[in-house]
Amino acid sequence: MATHTEQLTPLRTEPTVQLRGLTRSFDGRTVLDGIDLDLPAGQFTALLGHSGSGKSTLLRAIAGLDHSVTGSGRLSAPERVSVVFQDSRLLPWRRVLDNVLLGTDGREAEGKGRSALAEVGLAGRERAWPNELSGGEAQRAALARSLVREPELLLADEPFGALDALTRIRMHVLLRELWERHRPSVLLVTHDVDEAIVLADRVLVLDQGRIGLDLTIDRPHPRSYRDPLLGEYRERL
Ligand code: ADP
Ligand code: MG
Repeated sequence: MATHTEQLTPLRTEPTVQLRGLTRSFDGRTVLDGIDLDLPAGQFTALLGHSGSGKSTLLRAIAGLDHSVTGSGRLSAPERVSVVFQDSRLLPWRRVLDNVLLGTDGREAEGKGRSALAEVGLAGRERAWPNELSGGEAQRAALARSLVREPELLLADEPFGALDALTRIRMHVLLRELWERHRPSVLLVTHDVDEAIVLADRVLVLDQGRIGLDLTIDRPHPRSYRDPLLGEYRERL
């Protein structure tokens, strides 16, 4: 795992996301029950919660994909939000580079797409078809697609959930490196406690429609699954 350094781009003061009283019900059943949450610019946050606790619902609301939420939500730069899901959602009839470039335009777009693919380790695979990629490679391509948008906020909904354990760990390293280099705010939804602690600087637990726990992962930061510090944090969750 890449070492974490403190000398990074200073945090801007405006929070990227500000939610107040965010509420969502389905057929009279309240799933999000008045969520208050600030995501500071440039922070790597993980959102834990058991299955059905409303993680994806919250992520969709922040992404602006849900128009039935109530309460208030503010995004500092709503046009610069990228979302990565558990499946890559690459269009099978477009080559990898064309998938990455989808929805972008401008003369520089292709160059940015190529360098994003190189950053995720897919240089040389620009002309491959999505079905020629492994699961991990497809998720790399999905990350490249999110990067070309130079997101201020990267929302990821269990992006490694379908990958085998070894590939998942490689993707952890990659995601953390990309974050260190580009410094978007990240909200990573996961149900894997260790993944949350290793990757994020702040871990939220969604429980009964509220943020039940908001834990800062202090320095020194556990950076691998073998780090004994991991166990200490696990006990606090
Ligand atoms: P998580 O991602 O934490 O597993 P979800 O946000 O997907 O949980 O779902 C939270 C709850 O909201 C679940 O009980 C789910 O059934 C319900 N839910 C989510 N989306 C819908 C929908 N479109 N219609 C009805 N119920 C939904
Ligand atoms: Mg979900």
